[in-house]
Amino acid sequence: MFKLPEKPESIFSQMSNLAAQHQAINLSQGFPDFEGDPYLTELVIKAMQDGYNQYAPMAGDLGFRERISAMVDRLYGAQYDPNAEITISNGATQALFCAMASVLEKGDEVIVFSPAYDSYKPVVELFGAKVVAIPLKPPHFRPDWGAVTNLLTTKTKMIIINNPHNPCGTVLSLEDMQALERIVVEHKLWLLSDEVYAHMVFDEVPFYSASSLPELAKRSFVAASFGKTFHNTGWKMGYCVAPKLLMDEYRKVHEFNAYCVNHPMQKAMATYLEEPETYLGLPALFQAKRDRFLKGLQGTGFTATPTQGTYFQVLDYTAITDENDIDLAIRLTKELGVASIPMSRLDLFGRQLGYLRFCFAKKDETLGKAVAILNAL
Ligand code: PMP
Ligand code: GLN
Repeated sequence: MFKLPEKPESIFSQMSNLAAQHQAINLSQGFPDFEGDPYLTELVIKAMQDGYNQYAPMAGDLGFRERISAMVDRLYGAQYDPNAEITISNGATQALFCAMASVLEKGDEVIVFSPAYDSYKPVVELFGAKVVAIPLKPPHFRPDWGAVTNLLTTKTKMIIINNPHNPCGTVLSLEDMQALERIVVEHKLWLLSDEVYAHMVFDEVPFYSASSLPELAKRSFVAASFGKTFHNTGWKMGYCVAPKLLMDEYRKVHEFNAYCVNHPMQKAMATYLEEPETYLGLPALFQAKRDRFLKGLQGTGFTATPTQGTYFQVLDYTAITDENDIDLAIRLTKELGVASIPMSRLDLFGRQLGYLRFCFAKKDETLGKAVAILNAL
């Protein structure tokens, strides 16, 4: 009778609520505890004062789309027509939804790597399609393209990737992207590439957007989030780029799903994006936070492969305790005062791998307090 009968409250809300209830330091749900640039806030106020308070164009403010087009060209050498191939979304979540809704039909199969961000599976299932999960193996959590090929059937319609990967922090190499491109092109699949952490890649690791490989780009939706990039997840601003063939379909969904997105924020972000420094500084900012967090944990029983991208670090705690990750995350929140995400809750197989995910997009002071607590474990 109902389409998503089993969907529980997300682990992100659960852990954030538990953290609030116990006044714990919240390193669970992914958001910064510091403010974004006050200049951007001023631009939003100015846009409101200038009268941009009614509906935006359905696909988004054209000037904003032009700025995004220039940014994507600058970063990935990819050309998207702002008129026909870019749509502003209510966060990446709505972009992911519209992309899936525009192509998925009953009986389709969608390849998803596990662990996975929590919104993919329910949306796939909402359209009567089925997730075919592929496990990423610890400690490196890298995709096995041979395994992908083995799982393809005549029903496979789409592959979803998340690059850089939440929660694992892996970034796909050029060889990965080329293998993916071969599979997608040869089997005429669609790719949905969730790139919300594209501006947070560390240690000079090169980042290859799906839009940077021309043959792959022809079959790809790329979803992005300004909430992650500009430190304002509550503003729920994002976008999708895709070739016209796909974007035409996407917009049919977007029009009746949202019609349009917050107008003054689009105006403000269009101006803000004129200055590439607004996003080019993110790797240095977050790499320093990652390093501070990991350095503070040296000498504890936690072990980690430093995250290559995203603002999450997964820690292997198996040298400390044999508790399951859910019990441990709850105990750490309630008794010690640091909240994290138990990785099994993001795993499509529910695997107990012995990892907790910590968000390090926090003030140095917050990270310092959290690390001191974790040292006592
Ligand atoms: N994809 C991933 C991998 C995420 O971590 C998130 C959470 N920010 C989203 C999509 C959703 O992004 P938004 O908040 O812009 O909707
Ligand atoms: N993307 C965030 C995370 O991974 C959560 C966003 C949400 O709560 N939906 O923590």
